[in-house]
Amino acid sequence: MSATTTISLSTTYDAIVIGSGIGGLVTATQLAAKGAKVLVLERYLIPGGSGGYFEREGYRFDVGASMIFGFGDKGTTNLLTRALDAVNKSIETIADPVQIHYHLPEDLELKVHRDYEEFLQELIALFPHEEKGIRGFYGECWDVFNCLNSMELLSLEEPRYLMRVFFQKPFSCLGLAKYLPVNAGDVARKYIQDPKLLKFIDMECYCWSVVPALKTPMINAGMVFSDRHYGGINYPKGGVGQIALKLAEGLVEAGGEIKYKARVTNILMENGKAVGVKLADNTEYRAEKIISNATRWDTFDKLLPPQYTPKKEQKWRQRYQKSPSFLSLHLGVDAKVLPEGTECHHILLEDWNKMEDESGTIFVSIPTLLDPSLAPEGHHIIHTFTPSWIEGWQNLSPQEYQRKKEVAASKLIHRLEAIFPGLANALDYQEIGTPRTHRRFLGREDGTYGPIPRRKLAGLLGMPFNRTKIPGLYCVGDSTFPGQGLNAVAFSGMSCGHRVAVDLGL
Ligand SMILES: Cc1cc2nc3c(=O)[nH]c(=O)nc-3n(C[C@H](O)[C@H](O)[C@H](O)COP(=O)(O)OP(=O)(O)OC[C@H]3O[C@@H](n4cnc5c(N)ncnc54)[C@H](O)[C@@H]3O)c2cc1C
Repeated sequence: MSATTTISLSTTYDAIVIGSGIGGLVTATQLAAKGAKVLVLERYLIPGGSGGYFEREGYRFDVGASMIFGFGDKGTTNLLTRALDAVNKSIETIADPVQIHYHLPEDLELKVHRDYEEFLQELIALFPHEEKGIRGFYGECWDVFNCLNSMELLSLEEPRYLMRVFFQKPFSCLGLAKYLPVNAGDVARKYIQDPKLLKFIDMECYCWSVVPALKTPMINAGMVFSDRHYGGINYPKGGVGQIALKLAEGLVEAGGEIKYKARVTNILMENGKAVGVKLADNTEYRAEKIISNATRWDTFDKLLPPQYTPKKEQKWRQRYQKSPSFLSLHLGVDAKVLPEGTECHHILLEDWNKMEDESGTIFVSIPTLLDPSLAPEGHHIIHTFTPSWIEGWQNLSPQEYQRKKEVAASKLIHRLEAIFPGLANALDYQEIGTPRTHRRFLGREDGTYGPIPRRKLAGLLGMPFNRTKIPGLYCVGDSTFPGQGLNAVAFSGMSCGHRVAVDLGL
């Protein structure tokens, strides 16, 4: 068959989802559960994207995410539990007693305990003069969370749902509307004066939003700073990859289809409307609705001809930019290197002025402390990563690239020796990922973690919902409202599934 032969398949789907990240899978399962005929096309070998996994020499590594929100068993914000439940799936989880152990400059050492009061007591002991401010700030975060957690979370682009939820929960809706344009840093400054404590609040935000508190939307902060004590941080048994595997299984059982090694190269347009997709092998599929789980940059710059980039998209890019990617080390280590009582997640920073710099903040995750089955006996996994821009990894010869990776890895390990003495000598396995690796295996432009505001914006107001200006085309995932994180993209998937279902008349 010649490379240019197009294979048009006669089956028409209600919806095609490009990509099987958690955002794409939640959309697909929500739609399949409502009876839609859905096809998911995934360029990689397995589902999950940044929530996927890979196996090497007896270790099962999480690709990215490992601090999992949204797995609680109460309220309405436990969207991962709910998404799985929609296709009759569930996952056994292991409760993490501490969200993060911080190792910060000026000897600021503390743990965010699952128990809210225990966390507050530890923080207040470090900043006794700010007790009122600490309780005021985190208390206001609870106000946001309680509004979110009292209502069904669906598409904010669906007027009938908005009317219904407004009549059911008017005060929660008004509360959320009030916080939509607000950033966490502004709320923190109403209560807190101590500059060191404000830096800590910056880090509390930065470690998931990758921007300081003044640029972090209050809605997201309310969610994260409260849910960690409410539903808690819960690790899926068998690794984070289980979430995507179970969703994909549920999708198929609900009548949907998923194809791997199916890289979409074009979204097909007819009369200004998205009507199908074309794969790298020239197969074409058609559907009523096309949903892209690729980033906005990949969707609009690579899958569509330039004349279709909506003006609104250009405007959005003046306000948001791609965040850096990461340098990631996936380590297998001798268990003896971890001191007794080591927690699963750590943040390490030696100089406040470097928090946002490339290689400034170090993130650490040791999932085998919760689920030892992910590593050979007597060993642990340490996944550590630090922000890194793709520019520094381009235009290198294979030897230069390899050398640069090794130098960067050994610098990271050297810094980690401050919390895990003897780490360099305890290595059993090491794999180094760069922004190029993230770009290649996750299909994300420049390996980006997702969009971040270029400057201080009005909270979450500027984040786009699922519909696009192109009829028939929707976006889902971390470059849509409300942003990065597995529970956040599950929200995006729930609302996308809801909006598309209404548009399909389901
Ligand atoms: C190192 C790291 C650590 C993280 N830690 C956490 C954490 O602890 N907790 C947390 O909640 N979140 C964390 N995150 C963030 C979280 O993983 C992401 O926000 C989330 O997984 C993004 O999901 P998504 O559905 O938007 O997209 P993705 O996960 O990017 O999935 C998109 C999918 O689409 C596929 N695709 C793309 N283009 C095409 C195409 N043209 N054709 C076919 N398929 C295509 C990709 O292969 C991929 O499978 C982390 C991320 C990283 C990188």
